[in-house]
Amino acid sequence: MSRTTKITVGEIEVTSLTDGETVFGSEMFPNADEAEIATLLAQDGKEGIETNFNAFLMKTGSHTVLVDAGPRDLFGETCGFLPDALAEAETKPEDITDLFFTHLHPDHIAGAITPEGEAVFPNAQIYLSEAEHSFWSDAGQFSDETQQQWQQLAMAVLNAYEGRFELVKGEATIAPGVTALPLPGHTPGHCGFRVDDGTHSFAQLGDVVHAQSLQIANPEISVVFDVDADMARKARKQALDMAATDGMLISGGHILRPTIARLERSGAGYRLVSE
Ligand SMILES: [Zn+2]
Repeated sequence: MSRTTKITVGEIEVTSLTDGETVFGSEMFPNADEAEIATLLAQDGKEGIETNFNAFLMKTGSHTVLVDAGPRDLFGETCGFLPDALAEAETKPEDITDLFFTHLHPDHIAGAITPEGEAVFPNAQIYLSEAEHSFWSDAGQFSDETQQQWQQLAMAVLNAYEGRFELVKGEATIAPGVTALPLPGHTPGHCGFRVDDGTHSFAQLGDVVHAQSLQIANPEISVVFDVDADMARKARKQALDMAATDGMLISGGHILRPTIARLERSGAGYRLVSE
């Protein structure tokens, strides 16, 4: 089974790397009722609320950029396959020159360190939005135990790359042709990214969508992991509107295989159309 989907944007190779998958319970989507969830799943030909965990690899010639690093062993045996996906893309951990974190949730960062806390990517410069860094650095604001564990993991990752991470703002350049795409709400500094060559574009919309069967058809639906659900909903609507209007190839941290598709308007929402 392939864990990768590759496209080219001008001279830049863009590869999605699927670390693994899981199925969400309906309680993860508190503003959707069971009847709506059942209808949307049936429309999409699914029996459960499926999700993927995707990282992305960009080869620009001079840079080998990884975006996100998967959940490693945190979510059981259906996840943790980023190393296999990287091998399939003929890339070694030491080849990674730049590592951009869309945000610091565990499913995007745990794979950047070993269980012992060592950096997995020995030559990578880390990029992270300033807002994300300040949110997770303030341990005092996390009262529940799960959130505290997430905060500790975020700090463990930053410590492992001490002295080689750079805080970025706005639509910062990560590497030539690769720029951050701020989408605040899911977390305060949450981002996707874009790849542009002047003619063609690809956009990774971060975590604006966790369950494509639900949230692409109805962008009003929130996931419990959104720190600010209203702001996240606004970011989701703006990102999906941009992707459909511009006819871009898109993906995201949790889009199902084949992971790279275009978005079309459909009713009050959208649908994904494979190439
Ligand atoms: Zn995520």
